[in-house]
Amino acid sequence: THNRKFFVGGNWKMNGSTDSISDLVNSFNQGVMSQSVEVVIGAPYVYIPLLASTLRKDIAISAQNCFTKASGAYTGEISADMLKDVGATWVILGHSERRSIFKESDFFIAEKTKYALSVGLKVIFCCGESLEERESNNTMNVVERQLEALIATISPADYENVVIAYEPVWAIGTGKVASPEQAQEVHAHIRTFIKERVSSDVAQNIRIIYGGSVNEKNSNVTATQTDVDGFLVGGASLKPSFFEIVNV
Ligand code: PEP
Repeated sequence: THNRKFFVGGNWKMNGSTDSISDLVNSFNQGVMSQSVEVVIGAPYVYIPLLASTLRKDIAISAQNCFTKASGAYTGEISADMLKDVGATWVILGHSERRSIFKESDFFIAEKTKYALSVGLKVIFCCGESLEERESNNTMNVVERQLEALIATISPADYENVVIAYEPVWAIGTGKVASPEQAQEVHAHIRTFIKERVSSDVAQNIRIIYGGSVNEKNSNVTATQTDVDGFLVGGASLKPSFFEIVNV
C-alpha cells in the first residue's frame, strides 16, 4: 500500500486578467474542498502576488516555468528564487507547450528542475508523447527519454518534491482525453521505470498525475486507476467547476 495524496493541479496557461482571476478566486474560496486532496494552481507570473494575497491558504500556488539561475543578466527570465519570494511554492516544468513552441530540451528542463528544487520549490515535471510518436509505437521510448534526463540530473532524495505529470500532447487542449486504460498503461510503465532507475521507495511514493482534456465529466473513472494519483487540468481549471474535479 502507498500513501500518495491525490493531487489536482490547475494550469491556467497564458490566460486571465485581474478581474477574471479575482472572480475565480472568489469562487474557489467559497468552494467546499476535500482535505484529502492536494490542490495547486499554476498562474501566469504576474498574477502570483494577487493569488498569494487573496487565494485560500489550502490551495498552493505554482508558476508555469522558471530559469536555472538565481539572478543576473538574463533579460526576460524569472528565477525560482523570485517565485518563492512572491509566494509560489510549486513550478510546472517541461510542459509540452514549452517543449514544442519554445524548443526546451530534455536537458534544459532537467536543469531547471534541479535548480528549482535546490531553492525549495516543488516541481510538476511534465512528460508525454505526440500523436505521431504514439502512432509509431514510441510512447514509452519518448517518456523514458524525457525522464532519463531528469534521473541523470537530480538525486533520489529530490523526488519527494516532484510530481510527474503524464500529458500526451494529442490530448492537451484537444478534447481528446486519453482513456482510463491508456493513462493507466503509461502511468504503470513510468512507475516501473522509476523503480528500475531510481528506487522502489521513490516509485512507490511518487505521484504520477494525468493531464490532457480532463474535465468534471470525464475525470471520475480515470481517477480510480491504480497508478493515477491525480490530474493536471488546463482549460477546465479556469472555471468554478474545477472544484468538481478536485472533489472527484
Ligand atoms: C495542460 O495544459 O496541462 C492541459 C492538460 O490542458 P487541457 O486540460 O486544457 O487539455
